[in-house]
Formats: sequence, C-alpha cells, structure tokens
Amino acid sequence: MKKYTLPVILLLLFETIAITLWLAKDNLFYLFNFSYIGLAITLGTVLYIRKVPYARRVVQLLVGAYMLLYLGLICNENMQIEGFWYYLFTGVFEAATIHYAAAKIFGPLLFGRGWCGYACWTAMVLDFLPYKTAKMPRKRIGWIRYITFAASLLFVSALFLAHVGNIEKIMFWSFLAGNLIYYVVGIALAFAFQDNRAFCKYICPVTVFLKPMSYYALLRIQCDHTKCVSCGKCKQVCPMEVDVTDNSRKRKNGTECILCLECVKNCPKSAL
Ligand code: SF4
Ligand code: SF4
Ligand code: SF4
Repeated sequence: MKKYTLPVILLLLFETIAITLWLAKDNLFYLFNFSYIGLAITLGTVLYIRKVPYARRVVQLLVGAYMLLYLGLICNENMQIEGFWYYLFTGVFEAATIHYAAAKIFGPLLFGRGWCGYACWTAMVLDFLPYKTAKMPRKRIGWIRYITFAASLLFVSALFLAHVGNIEKIMFWSFLAGNLIYYVVGIALAFAFQDNRAFCKYICPVTVFLKPMSYYALLRIQCDHTKCVSCGKCKQVCPMEVDVTDNSRKRKNGTECILCLECVKNCPKSAL
C-alpha cells in the first residue's frame, strides 16, 4: 500500500482546496470542481503506478474535456487567457482568475508545467497527432508567444476602454473563436514542423506565465549520475527536448518540461 502514498496525498490536497473554497466562497461548485479534478489526477497517478501505458492521457482527457466542454461550453466560463484578463479587470476572484492562479501562475512553483502535461485541452488534441517527438531542429521563433500574449491583453483592454456593452457574451464567443484558432494553428504547425508540441513551444501565450514560474519548480525530474550511462534515450523520447540529464535549473529547455515522464519510463538504468 505504501506505493499509493502519493495518490492519497494528492487526493487530500485537492479535497482540502475543494472544501476550503466551497466554504470560503459559499459556492458548492468549488467542491464539485476540485473534487473532480483531484479524482482524475489521483486515478491517473494510480494507473501510472500500476504501469498502465496511457495513464497520463487518461488524466489529460478527463480534465481537459471537462474544462473545455463543461466549464467552457456549458457553464460559459472563458478559461482562456482573455477570460483571465477579463475577470482580473473586473476585480472578480472567480473562475479564470482562480484557475490561472492555481494552475498557471503560482501552481508551477510547486508542480512546474504539470498543467501542460495533464490538463490542457489544446494539448489534449495535439497529443493525438503523429509527431510525439520533434522530427526537425527547433526553430528560433519562441518570441511569437509574446505577441499572442500582448494581443490577448490588448483585446480585452480595448473592450474595457471602449466601454463595449455585454462583454460577458463577447468573452463566450471569443472563447469559441480562440479555441478554434488554437486548434487550427496548433494542428497546422504540428504537421509543418513535424512536432505535436510546436504550438506549445512557439505560440502559446500562457507560456509567458508558465515558463518563468516553472524555472523555480519544486517538482523536477532529476538525474542520478551514478546510474546514468549517457545512452541518450531520455532525450530521444522527450517531446519538449529537455536536457534532463543536466540537474541545474539552467538546463536546456528546462522550463519546457511538462512532467510527462516519458524519459523516466524509457531510461534503461532507472536513473531519472
Ligand atoms: S503550452 Fe499552452 S497549449 Fe501547450 S500545453 Fe501548455 S497551456 Fe496548453
Ligand atoms: S536514458 Fe537514463 S541512462 Fe540513458 S542518458 Fe538518460 S538518464 Fe542516462
Ligand atoms: S520526457 Fe521527461 S524531461 Fe521531457 S518533458 Fe517529459 S518529463 Fe520532462
């Protein structure tokens, strides 16, 4: 039973968040929301411990589909970056602001880019494409993320400055349009660069938050150099081209690690 300590801790952690927010905000939704996400992550962890090959994908589909279909389409919550700016400007600590604070701004200090590996609904689709690892050298176009980041901020600022009415409705439609654009661009880039995660590496505006915060992540893959035989297998299977044998925080593409554990699963010496 000792091997199930981690899933139990995770479940307790999410239940604590669920109950705290439920009581603090007097809203039953938080109890349901965080309990559901906690159960999905706990299930994935149990499956991983039991060596089920698609454990990560199960979590990704359960959480990603829930956020896209239930929160986004049914509850009309814009959980994209525009939604975050919108709620931030209105001064409401709800939905997207809580989501961003927990998963994308402060959470990465603890679990790095776990969001990108286990919950993002954009990557949930991109990970079905055929290029699990990049088949071409990395491009030097990561600066595009700053343009998309600025564009999202400008878009919402302009709505407020122009005193546009019914912004709630615009947010819902921008959620639909934004996701459609992400999927079209993400899939096109994946095929153009032969890399499922090209969108994550070059375009995604959320990485402007995720990358600097995950630099300080507590949870990181570490290499035991006394076991490593420098076979290079870990780098071959890494979708984000992380130099995982370098334990320093400055390792190549270190802030790109999505904690998918492919390197850990494929290391022949259990050095990771
Ligand atoms: S980089 Fe962006 S699109 Fe990719 S998994 Fe992370 S949040 Fe999703
Ligand atoms: S796969 Fe394992 S043994 Fe091979 S280089 Fe990576 S850490 Fe070292
Ligand atoms: S393969 Fe390893 S280093 Fe690469 S993203 Fe996954 S967990 Fe991180």
